[in-house]
Amino acid sequence: MSQSPQTPMTSRQRVLAALNREPVDRTPVCNPTSVATVELMDLVDAPFPEANRNPELMARLAATSYTELGFDTIMPVFSIIQESSALGCKIQWEQKDNWPTVRMSEPIWREPEDIKISADILNHPDMTCVPEAIKILRREYGDEVAIIGKTMGPWSLGYHCFGVEPFLLMSLDDPDKTKRCLDRMKDLTIEYGIAQIEAGADAVTLPDHATGDLVSGEYYERYLRDLHIEFAERIPGHIILHICGRTVDRMEYIAQTGMSAFHYDSKNGPRESMDIVQDRISLVGNINNPQTLFSRGPEDVREEVYENLEAGVHMVGPECAIPLQTSIENLKEIPRAVQDWHRDHPAGL
Ligand SMILES: [Zn+2]
Repeated sequence: MSQSPQTPMTSRQRVLAALNREPVDRTPVCNPTSVATVELMDLVDAPFPEANRNPELMARLAATSYTELGFDTIMPVFSIIQESSALGCKIQWEQKDNWPTVRMSEPIWREPEDIKISADILNHPDMTCVPEAIKILRREYGDEVAIIGKTMGPWSLGYHCFGVEPFLLMSLDDPDKTKRCLDRMKDLTIEYGIAQIEAGADAVTLPDHATGDLVSGEYYERYLRDLHIEFAERIPGHIILHICGRTVDRMEYIAQTGMSAFHYDSKNGPRESMDIVQDRISLVGNINNPQTLFSRGPEDVREEVYENLEAGVHMVGPECAIPLQTSIENLKEIPRAVQDWHRDHPAGL
């Protein structure tokens, strides 16, 4: 890591520097996906499912990652359903203790020709909610903290609108048809990303779930690398790509996209991942959710934070949206551990 600047940076400066792979005073703690918990919902009276649909509540719940947990980012898009709801998928909105989900057993599309996206989809209430929340947060927190939005990639939208199995089967049987589908969905990803950058987001997370357990690295290259290069060119802000699972077999391609950062999963070691991406894209991650953050204690959290810092990972945070019952103590341990590590390593690495 580069030498630390002398004066303390604001959270926003720190995150922007890490996204550009420039020197930082300490590694930023960053959540490209949700850190909302039931405890935080109660604390600020902004529960699910309403906090996914009402911009005031969305902003209020999201702000807790900065005000309560001490992270350097605020990320108001807790779920992956905003676009799918606007596209007409059936959504199970659930209650406070559960995520809203798309009912993928009832797909809305079968063929590329079925993909029809209304010209004013960005005005659907489940879409406008996010830029509205970003504006509220920017007004409230000014320049002090980084604000991150989210726009879903076409591979993920394909799962939601075609169903996971039909979409994967199509990708096996008919690459051309699959590419036509991705092509017809990609503008939504771009336009929603632009809307959030214009609303004041410093970066957008772009989940595109070509996950390690479902598709191979070769698939990523065939279907998504060029598309992701196009996103980096056409969305005028930082993009943080999010793909769960073991992804070292596609990190070489991901590093070629020109995106600012890759949000990576704990199934990949920090060191092996840094060795692949080198200085081409920033990494953010990769504290394990289901075991470490959800069911273990602060000592284990600290150990994983240190492992990332020692490998020179650019930003530290949970690997994915955290379980809603995660303890606040475990989450607060992430910034604490980062500060302690930097106190003991004043010159960085
Ligand atoms: Zn994920």
